Amino acid sequence: MRAIRSLTTVAPGILFVEGPASNWTVFHGRGRVELVDCGYPADRPLVEESIRRTGLDVAALSRIIVTHGHSDHVGAARDYSERHGVEVLAAAAELPNVRREVTEQVTVKDLLPVALRRGTVPWAVAAIRAGGLGEVGVPSAQAITADTLELSTGHRLEVLSTPGHTTGHACFFVPDAEVLITGDALVTGHALLPETGELQQLPAFFHHDTDGAAASAQRLSLCDARWVLPGHGPALRL
Ligand SMILES: [Zn+2]
Repeated sequence: MRAIRSLTTVAPGILFVEGPASNWTVFHGRGRVELVDCGYPADRPLVEESIRRTGLDVAALSRIIVTHGHSDHVGAARDYSERHGVEVLAAAAELPNVRREVTEQVTVKDLLPVALRRGTVPWAVAAIRAGGLGEVGVPSAQAITADTLELSTGHRLEVLSTPGHTTGHACFFVPDAEVLITGDALVTGHALLPETGELQQLPAFFHHDTDGAAASAQRLSLCDARWVLPGHGPALRL
């Protein structure tokens, strides 16, 4: 059964959720909820469980901001948008991915050269079971138009352009809490990585542009953060 691995309150109104295979962050305050990423489609009940942990109901969810358009980060955003009027935001350069006008995501063909590597097949099976090949595109997704996002919860997010993993991948920095949300630009673990706990990059075949991903990871390492909240693996306190 899918279950949340860990919940960490990293600052007032900022709850980091380590999901079964990918992570999301719940911002809450002033009776409102906004998410950064929302797991796989199959994680929807866990997303709602994590919102309830803040003392609020899913009806308080007004916006989902995604780091990038991969199915393990966009999850059920389409349904929240279409049925509940939740706004979905991504960097302008990422919109084609989020809307599924293009797909910069690892394919079965990409996996063939590494298929014999330990863990690849179980990971792929789990990803498909979690809805990884489903219709996750969000046609209504809108572009982030400013360098800073003011959330309805009272938090302020700086938008950091970190292309490479995908063309329009973005990270988010909360200066008041010194919290850095890295999506898949930097992670602390993954089923296909041998180590857990250290900041690292995903295996190269996950990146649309490997050199760009390396440059973005390098820039991020200069960011002055107290907490790093990655797209995969546990939160890291620096
Ligand atoms: Zn990704």
